Amino acid sequence: MIRVKKSISGSSALQTSYNHQDVCKQLLKDQHDKCYICEQRIVTNYHVDHLQSQHHHPDLKQEWVNLFMACSYCNERKSDKYDNILHPSNHNIEEIIIHQNDFQAKKVLFSSADDRLEVSKTIELLLQLFNGREDIGRNFKEKRFYEEFLRKINLFLKKVNEYISGNPAYGEAIDEELREESELLGFKYHIIKNNRILTKDFGHLIVWNKMNSNE
Ligand SMILES: [Zn+2]
Repeated sequence: MIRVKKSISGSSALQTSYNHQDVCKQLLKDQHDKCYICEQRIVTNYHVDHLQSQHHHPDLKQEWVNLFMACSYCNERKSDKYDNILHPSNHNIEEIIIHQNDFQAKKVLFSSADDRLEVSKTIELLLQLFNGREDIGRNFKEKRFYEEFLRKINLFLKKVNEYISGNPAYGEAIDEELREESELLGFKYHIIKNNRILTKDFGHLIVWNKMNSNE
């Protein structure tokens, strides 16, 4: 999960419905066709997600700043149980929450030095999406989701390992994997930051959407 940079104006069609196709189009454009939570490409199965749920905050139903595009998997699981996660446009989430995968334990780890409630709720949601329920583990859908994530992250690691072992031809492929529209940047950033060579050569690419002092 990384910060989302929303266009300021939103869409005038929002007055008609938050689900209007022009609203969906603008949300997808702002998010480079990725789900704002799991950062995977949304193909057809998407939902306009209310950061603060319609159930608890009916007044925010048509507020542009409260709307994000999510895949159906994330949207269903978030439901109205996570109204107080970090606002994706107001925080550099990729810096607050460290994203890691424990390949041996087949579990994703999220950690933070920040002890605010919004941070722990965001981590709780992410853990549920990637690892399933804490007591019973992953169900069928969650297993499929994790396997797909693993496939993509392994593909990235393969390129990274080739590069580190002295194969510069992979540099371009890594550049591509770190583009703004690429998937799973929160995880990839951590891999880059954790290695001296990768930080030196690709550190300038882990910058998308970050807030700076001018904003
Ligand atoms: Zn998702």
